[in-house]
Amino acid sequence: MEILAASAPERVNSLEEHWMPFTGNRDFKEKPRLVVSAEGVYYIDHRGGRVIDGSSGLFCSPAGHARREIADAVYKQLTTNSYSPSFQVGHPASFELARRVASLLPDPLNHVFFVNSGSEAVDTALKMVMAYHRARGQSQRLRFVSRERAYHGVNMGGVSLSGMVKNRESFPVTMPNVVMLRHTFTGNELFCDGQPQKDGVELANDLQRHCETYGGSTIAAVFVEPVAGSTGTLVPPVGYLERLREICDEHGILLVFDEVITGFGRLGTPFASQRFGVTPDITTMAKALTNGSIPMGAVAVRDEIYETVTEASPDNAIEFFHGYTYSAHPAACAAGLAALDIYQNDGLFDRAAEMAPYFAEAMMSLRDHPLVMDIRTIGMMSGIEVHHDGVPGRRGQAMQKALFWNGCHVKFTGDVGIVAPQFIAERAHIDEVVDKLRRTLDEFA
Ligand code: PMP
Repeated sequence: MEILAASAPERVNSLEEHWMPFTGNRDFKEKPRLVVSAEGVYYIDHRGGRVIDGSSGLFCSPAGHARREIADAVYKQLTTNSYSPSFQVGHPASFELARRVASLLPDPLNHVFFVNSGSEAVDTALKMVMAYHRARGQSQRLRFVSRERAYHGVNMGGVSLSGMVKNRESFPVTMPNVVMLRHTFTGNELFCDGQPQKDGVELANDLQRHCETYGGSTIAAVFVEPVAGSTGTLVPPVGYLERLREICDEHGILLVFDEVITGFGRLGTPFASQRFGVTPDITTMAKALTNGSIPMGAVAVRDEIYETVTEASPDNAIEFFHGYTYSAHPAACAAGLAALDIYQNDGLFDRAAEMAPYFAEAMMSLRDHPLVMDIRTIGMMSGIEVHHDGVPGRRGQAMQKALFWNGCHVKFTGDVGIVAPQFIAERAHIDEVVDKLRRTLDEFA
């Protein structure tokens, strides 16, 4: 630890007490990787090394790190009002932020409920689905549909919807009545830039089969990430989301898009629903809502869901018995408003759309590397999948670490590196990420 204390600007006396999330703690503490500051697309590590951020943190910070405008807005907010509950009492910034978020979403997703993370957004959406069906006298709709290789966060509802085997093995007691669609990676089209052409309708018809097996009137909602992010950038094949929408409409099932990664421009449109031309009933979001600066998530619902739930309760009672102490925290709202201002003033969603072809081409330059099994790209998001070394996930984890020491942060999930640059990245930054990926691949080959 002394080495750290000597080299890092901040004091680090011990690494023992912090039990780190999603981390091999023993391994980390033997060879820690600490970020002590960040600016734009770079982190500075504890040795003073520059590490280019190829994953926007965890897909959080399209406008780059340590934005002064956000810090100033949060400072101003905290020195004006650092906390007020949002139960029964409101503050102006939350209403303004809800309006701004709604204005980015397709109509009629016009009502926004604030939470503190993506996981909370997913669990909140689950409860909204239940509240809606109950308010319509359809309490028999208790079955949820999710998808293999889905990631919907770590709270119990999200884990229940998870299609990641590790989530399920680690915490096997989850909500009953969750059935799965197949995931959409068929391997039929490797090295695909954009949507695979094949299999969309056929894969979506899994939902139709569930309706025939269980009865469509028992199914409450289908949860999907429009592009499955945490399991490796799985882009929906053409026709897939459209067909899910169609089946949901036929059977009165709600369609929920988990846009925690794809929300706020990642695919070059404000939300993935605009990119794919499919409007869900509920959208979850987090991460880039505040450019990753302050924890915040949100759930947006259609007018009809909000109206049905709020009108169903008599006597002005609380209609939706749910909320968090920090829901719509003033500092988070200030950060969200400042982040949305930057996205708008700097035209960052358009910039993401403009940079996407260059980014795709740069990523595809790695396709002939002997370790690379597949590369999938859409918008400013790409998955580079390496052949596993006999134990799935082991090489990916080792590569993530090696890449960091080579001066680049890319989040690996299993054996897939998810490259998701900031929207402020220049071509040279994208080249740097790709060069460092190539160098690290070479070291492993
Ligand atoms: N849903 C999706 C689609 C996600 O990608 C994530 C996080 N990667 C979550 C939910 C959970 O978000 P959080 O980690 O903020 O709880």
